[in-house]
Amino acid sequence: MIYIANFKTNHTRETTREYLTKLQLQLFKKRPNDKVYVFPPLTALDDYQSSDVTIGVQNAYPIKNGAVTGEVGLEQIAEFNIKTILIGHSERREILGETQKKIAEKFNFFKEQDFEIIYCIGESLEIREKGVDAVIEHLVSQFEGIDTSYENFMIAYEPIWAIGTGRTASVEEITQTHNALKKVVDKPILYGGSVNSSNIKEIAQIENVDGVLVGGASLKTDTFLELILHS
Ligand code: PEP
Repeated sequence: MIYIANFKTNHTRETTREYLTKLQLQLFKKRPNDKVYVFPPLTALDDYQSSDVTIGVQNAYPIKNGAVTGEVGLEQIAEFNIKTILIGHSERREILGETQKKIAEKFNFFKEQDFEIIYCIGESLEIREKGVDAVIEHLVSQFEGIDTSYENFMIAYEPIWAIGTGRTASVEEITQTHNALKKVVDKPILYGGSVNSSNIKEIAQIENVDGVLVGGASLKTDTFLELILHS
């Protein structure tokens, strides 16, 4: 299983270091094939060394360096030896207004740089209520401009209505969606949306769920570890 912690706009450099130190001390208990990722805020990047945890960035601008006020580019994240990026998160699509065109531009830029890409897709509640065909049609539209044959990427399916709401998609909804996605793009598919210690077991057992992307329940080392060690 793949376990990804997305801190969003939480934690500082100091608390991220404490978190990672504590996490690393326990990761000898994980299953050998489990992979663990942490995405701290950009200001918390540092010279972290661990063979058990991959550090990624939640965002970067598709440019080496240049005039893009408030953004960071390749040169800034390369300083931390980071080669993993989250692209297409619904909060960036919705709150920051990132269009599919801009997201595809980012994907292709970081693909050219051989980054490992975690590519997020998801539907609104309005679309979910129209039924599974409408959901799949919408999710497939989020592959527009994306080179799905790229070796080094995985998908995170995150229904927007399940992110940070405490409401998880049902086992049936996850199964149906992941099965349909797997037929379109044969890559690892993670589920994200209010994953916590009470639902991880049943989510982890679903066929075609290759991992989880976790927001709220990843913010404390103990709760994230509980997901890794008890799923
Ligand atoms: C997320 O950040 O992508 C996410 C799934 O958050 P949460 O686990 O809090 O729903």
